[in-house]
Amino acid sequence: MKALMRLSGRVGDMGVAQTDEPILRQDDWAKMQVCYAGVCGGSDLKLMQMDATGPDAKLKPPIVLGHEFSGIITQVGPAVTHLKPGDWVTVDTVVQPCGHCSYCVSGDWNMCPERLGVGSSFDGGFAPFFAGPARNFHVLPQGLPLRIGALTEPAACAVHIVHDVAKVQAGERVVIIGPGVIGLLCAAAALFAGAQVLVVGTPRGAQRLECARAMGCQTLVNDTENLAARVQAAFGGSADAAVDAVGTNRALQQAMYTLGKMGRLVAGGVPFKDKTPYQLDMDFVYRNQISIGAGRSSRPSDWPIAMQVLKRFERQIDSWVDSHFTLDQWQQAFDQTRNKQVIKAMFTCADEKGD
Ligand SMILES: [Zn+2]
Ligand SMILES: [Zn+2]
Repeated sequence: MKALMRLSGRVGDMGVAQTDEPILRQDDWAKMQVCYAGVCGGSDLKLMQMDATGPDAKLKPPIVLGHEFSGIITQVGPAVTHLKPGDWVTVDTVVQPCGHCSYCVSGDWNMCPERLGVGSSFDGGFAPFFAGPARNFHVLPQGLPLRIGALTEPAACAVHIVHDVAKVQAGERVVIIGPGVIGLLCAAAALFAGAQVLVVGTPRGAQRLECARAMGCQTLVNDTENLAARVQAAFGGSADAAVDAVGTNRALQQAMYTLGKMGRLVAGGVPFKDKTPYQLDMDFVYRNQISIGAGRSSRPSDWPIAMQVLKRFERQIDSWVDSHFTLDQWQQAFDQTRNKQVIKAMFTCADEKGD
């Protein structure tokens, strides 16, 4: 089969290449035909450029990229009971955790030092077929379209940020800085929890802010310096939780100043845009007893909730998946994601099958 791969550890060595179709390596594995696979504006762009020549690199080339995907089960191993051929599924990207470290025991597979990541150290979904441990496969809710089901992974990351780390409760006020896909999904997860949500974007992000409004969020265009005052005016008070869904020092600062006493600040974006360590106003943190956290990837328990969030906002989310590409058009898909010309670029992998 032809798949979109990082071919070697050399920076940018990436392309569509011939590789073996994956097989069931164990009795408790399953295999799927991949129908839709999204380009991740955080880690895929980073993985494209990553230098993976060192032994400690997270990326293990040659490797099939892609960690946000959905499709149809084609084969299950004899030990698999919760899946059958024809099921519509998506795949939890944290694979083969050790199962006995303290993080595995507490359900935090995303922190297990032995885990592999689908699409970085375990062959991923930018391919016509994917195979892996069956317990990583989730059957999509009845009637949820596959193109929306492909967003379960970023939705699970958003549920992790908003529910596990920010601990958002019904009735609370939540600010999200950055209306990209993660920001919008954080907004959806916070609305799902019963919170009031305000999403902040730049003037360039007008269309994305419209997506947030369509779900029932308030929005603000961040074109002046007094963001905190404007947020407080819109909300009638300070925020209880605030998420940086951009991944910059500036966005984290802006998020923090919208918080009231004992507010929770969460770094949700992949912080690769700033190469220098972040600076924070520790006087503000101390005086207001702010909790600072981060959400990386997701826990297995986030996935069923993520699918419910997608189901709840299915109609609105449908408009975000605004462009489709074949794997051969990967450069366009990555360029348009980087330049923010698209909200979510999606590969239609099944079309690539007969090569
Ligand atoms: Zn991602
Ligand atoms: Zn472990």
